[in-house]
Amino acid sequence: MELQDLYRDLILDHNRHPRNFGRLADPANHAQGHNPLCGDQLTVFVRLDGQTVSDIRFEGSGCAISTASASLMTEAVKGRDRAAIGTLYDKVHDLLTRRDTQADASLGKLAALSGVREFPARVKCASLCWHTLNAALSEGAATVSTE
Ligand code: ZN
Repeated sequence: MELQDLYRDLILDHNRHPRNFGRLADPANHAQGHNPLCGDQLTVFVRLDGQTVSDIRFEGSGCAISTASASLMTEAVKGRDRAAIGTLYDKVHDLLTRRDTQADASLGKLAALSGVREFPARVKCASLCWHTLNAALSEGAATVSTE
């Protein structure tokens, strides 16, 4: 199986069966994100234990890439602390925007997003969940837009 096929299957699977989909009861930080270019809407809920994300969920509606990206993100950040999440975010951002970036092993399944950079109009679909997570981690409750 080609790597690109594996990545496509991961995206399709996470879109059809999003992980950590739903809400977290209070007390939890949350933020809403909106990508007007595509119409993607997300709410990300995070529960912090000190500096560590002990639980995370998301809900909303959007295209396959936005849903799959959010699903993959929740799996990747659960149990990590803010510093590790910041490092991961920087790597995902490079992966989505720089054609010369190779996915390193620490990205795990997030490497499946590398195909998105072939479609610049969809980069915001994939990054929306990360912007929304950052807002939830910093503000507690906020709304962000990719515009
Ligand atoms: Zn989208």
